Amino acid sequence: MISGGHPCLCVPVPREPEPVDDVVTLARYPFLPQASPWISALAGEHRITLDELLEGSFMEPARARARIRLIETVEAEEGVSLSGGDLHSENGRLIEAFSFYYARLVVCATRDERLVARWALAEAQRAERLLRNDERALPVVARTYMSDIHSREHRGPSGRGERGTALPHLEWTVGMADFIEVCPKITGDRWRLANTELSEGSIRLHSEAQYSSSAKVARLLRERIKAGIEADALEKVAEVNDELASRLALPIGIVRNLMEARVQQSIALAGVDEEDWPPCMRRIVADLANGVNVNHFGRVFLASMGSTMELPQTTTVDFFRGAPDFSEATTTYQVGHVYEQGYTPAGCAKLKVNHNCPVLPGDDRLCDREWLTHPLKYVRSKQRWKQRMEEEAAAVVQHDAPPPTDG
Ligand code: SF4
Repeated sequence: MISGGHPCLCVPVPREPEPVDDVVTLARYPFLPQASPWISALAGEHRITLDELLEGSFMEPARARARIRLIETVEAEEGVSLSGGDLHSENGRLIEAFSFYYARLVVCATRDERLVARWALAEAQRAERLLRNDERALPVVARTYMSDIHSREHRGPSGRGERGTALPHLEWTVGMADFIEVCPKITGDRWRLANTELSEGSIRLHSEAQYSSSAKVARLLRERIKAGIEADALEKVAEVNDELASRLALPIGIVRNLMEARVQQSIALAGVDEEDWPPCMRRIVADLANGVNVNHFGRVFLASMGSTMELPQTTTVDFFRGAPDFSEATTTYQVGHVYEQGYTPAGCAKLKVNHNCPVLPGDDRLCDREWLTHPLKYVRSKQRWKQRMEEEAAAVVQHDAPPPTDG
C-alpha cells in the first residue's frame, strides 16, 4: 500500500541511494526514497490498512498532524512546522510518517498540480530547516540527493568556543553538475557561479558568519527534495480513483477552500486600491487567476508594476499562482530578480504591440487621453482624483458641521 520514489530522474542524483537504518531519520524525513520500505513494514506490523488510515481511531493522531501539515502548506510562508511528536518513541514515528503519507494522499486526490507544487515546497522548506542543524542526517540526505558532495571538518568563522577558539564544523564541497542545475532556482548573489570558489570541478561552500556551510547544503537540498516530492506525488495522482477521492472529500474541500481563499486574499490585499490599477494590469491578474496563459512580456510587466507600486513580493508571486505553468521556486526567483533590479514597467505603446493592452477607444476614459502613455500615469491620475474627492468631501463635512457649543 505504501510506496515512495526516488527524486526526479532528470537531475543528477545517485541511482541507488545508500541504505538508512536510523528510524528517527526515516520518520523525520518520510519523503526519503529509503523511507518507503520502512513505512511499508510499519504498516504491516501495525495492521495499518487504507481503511485504518482514512477512518480508523488508531490513525486519528496521524490524520490530525496531517491536517496541520496541509493547513501550513497553504498558510505558512515558511512551510510545514517541524514536528509535533517525540520521534524517539514508536508512536511519535508512526504519527510523523503516516501524517506525511495521509497528507500526500489528500494532495494527490485534489488532482491539482498547483497544490501538489505548493505542498512539495512546504515539505521541502520544513526539511531545509531541520537539516541545517541535523548533523546526523545531513550527510546521508545530501548523498541521497546529490551525486557529488563531500564534507570535511574545518575550523573557521562559523562558531567559536568559550576562549575564542574556532569550533570545528563541517565544510562542504558540491560538484559542478549538481550546483549548476540547482543554483538558478535560488536568489542571491552568493549562488551565482561567478561568485563561487571552484576547485577541481567542485564548488566550495564556505561558512559565513550567519550562513554556515551546512545551511547552504540544506538550501541546495531543498530544491532537490521539492523536485523529488513533487515528481513522486504527480505520479501518484494518476493512481487516485474516484472512490478514494470521494472518501477524502472532506479534507480535499478544506484544503481547496484554503487555497482559493489565499488567492482571493492576495488579490484583495494588493487591491486595497484595485480600482486604481490600469486595465492592462487588471486583465493580466484576472487572466492568471483564471489559469489563462499570459505572455512573457505581460508577466514581466506585472512583476515590475508590483515592484514599482511597492506591493509585497509575496503578493506579486501570488498573482502567478493560477498560471498553468506556475512553479513557486521559479516565480519567486524571477519576481525577486525584477524587484532587485527595479525594472521600470513598460509603457502603453509597447504593451499594445505585445497584445497586453485590452482597451479599445471608448472603453476607458483615462486610457483614451492623449497624455496617457504609461500605465503608471493611469495609477497616479486615479490617486490624485481620489485625493481631490476626499478633500472636497472633508470640506463639505466641515462646512455643514454645527457650530461649536460652549462647555
Ligand atoms: S492604454 Fe495604457 S494604461 Fe490603458 S490599458 Fe492600455 S496599456 Fe494599460
